[in-house]
Amino acid sequence: MNLSTPRPQADTGAAPDWDRVRQDFPLLMREVHGKPLVYFDNANTGQKPVQVIGAVDEFYRRYNANVSRAVHALGTEATDAYEGARTKLARFLNVRASELVLCSGTTFALNLVAYSWALPRLKAGDVILVSRMEHHANIVPWQLVAERTGASVRVAEISPDGSLDLDALRRAMTAEVKLLAVAHVSNVLGTVNPVREICREARKRGIITVVDGSQAVPHRKVDVAAIGCDFYAITGHKMCGPTGTGALWARREHLDAMPPFLGGGEMIKEVSFEGTVFNEAPHKFEAGTPNIAGFIGLGVAVDYLESLGLAHVEAREAELLAHFTEELQKIDGLRIFGTAPDKAAVVSFLVEGAHAHDLATLLDLEGVAIRSGQHCAHPLLQYYGVAATCRASLAFYNTHEEIERFIVALNKVRKLLG
Ligand code: PMP
Repeated sequence: MNLSTPRPQADTGAAPDWDRVRQDFPLLMREVHGKPLVYFDNANTGQKPVQVIGAVDEFYRRYNANVSRAVHALGTEATDAYEGARTKLARFLNVRASELVLCSGTTFALNLVAYSWALPRLKAGDVILVSRMEHHANIVPWQLVAERTGASVRVAEISPDGSLDLDALRRAMTAEVKLLAVAHVSNVLGTVNPVREICREARKRGIITVVDGSQAVPHRKVDVAAIGCDFYAITGHKMCGPTGTGALWARREHLDAMPPFLGGGEMIKEVSFEGTVFNEAPHKFEAGTPNIAGFIGLGVAVDYLESLGLAHVEAREAELLAHFTEELQKIDGLRIFGTAPDKAAVVSFLVEGAHAHDLATLLDLEGVAIRSGQHCAHPLLQYYGVAATCRASLAFYNTHEEIERFIVALNKVRKLLG
C-alpha cells in the first residue's frame, strides 16, 4: 500500500494504472458474507484511499490542536493544514479561498443559503424554482423558507429519459422567480445537467442560482467560476474525503451581505454585551470548532483526485458505465430509470416481479452493495410512479470484473425471487 500522496499527474498524461489505484482502497479488499465485496454504492458515499486515512491518522497522532486560537506550534501546524485544505479545495473548484465556506456537507451548505440568503430576502409572491430531480437537501430547506416567508416552490419538470426539460425550465423562469436550485448531477438518474447554460439563462433574468454539486465534483473536472452560478455546494465524503466535510462557494457580494447563520467562537472579531463585530466571510459562517481532521483529509483527497486526473476519472467511469449498461440491458424485464445522453455512472433500475429492497438484500448476501429505496428523492420517484428503485453507482476504482460478478449475482437472485 502506498501511504504517500501520489505524484501529481497532468490530465493530459497517461491514464493511471487502475488496478494499482484500487490497491489504495483497503476497504475494497474485504469480504462480505464470505464473498469478495462489490461496492456499487458510491453515490451514497465513496471509499477512502490510504492517503486520506493516513492524513487523518497523522493529524491525531502528531499535531491535534484547535485551529485559529492557539499560538503554540501544534495550533499553528493545525491551522496551516486546515487553511491549506481550503486553498487546495478552492483551487480544485477554481474559486477564491476567501469565498469558500467550509461546512459539514451539502445539506449544511444549502441550508446556509436558505437561512442566510433566502429567508431575509424572500416575501409573499416570490417563487423558488427547483427541478423535479432534486435530492431532499435541495428541496426541504426551500420549503421551510417558503413557509416562513410566504414564497412558493415551483417545480421544473423532467423528460421521461431523466433529462431536464430546458424549454419548460426557461418558461418557468418568470419574473416572480428569485432563486433557482438545481443539481449539477442527479444522484438517482445520473443525469448531468447543463448548469452553465441554465445559470446563464437565470442570470439574464436576475435569478440567483444555487447548484448542488455533490454528485459532480467526484466524477469530472468542475470549474465553478465557468458555471457562472451564485452558490455551489459540495460534500467531501463522496469525493474520497472524510464524512462531515463539505463546502459552500458563494460570490463575495452575497457572502458580505448575508448575516451569520450560527453564532459562537471563531466567527467574531470582537464581542461585548453591547454588540458583536463579526469576522469576515468565510469565517463569519464557521462558528465553533470545525472538523479539522476531516478537512485535512479532504485536502489530501483533492490531491489524490488531481493526481489521477479528473479527465481520466471521467473517462474511466464512462467506460465502466457503458459496459454496465450494456450488460444490464441484456436482462429480461430490467428497466433503467435515467437514460439522458450525458450521465454519470449511476444506474437506477427495477427488475419485473422483484421488489427493490428484496433485490438489494439478496445481492448483499452475494457481497454486492447497492442502494434501494427512494434515494432522498421522493418527488422524482413519484414522477416515475414507483415506490422504490435499486441504484448501483460506480467509481473509478470499480472494475469490469466486478460488473461481471454483479450481473452473475443479479441473475442468481432474480431467479430466487422469480
Ligand atoms: N445532494 C445530492 C445530489 C446528494 O446526492 C446528496 C447525498 N446523498 C446530498 C445532496 C446531501 O449530501 P450530504 O448528506 O453529504 O450533506
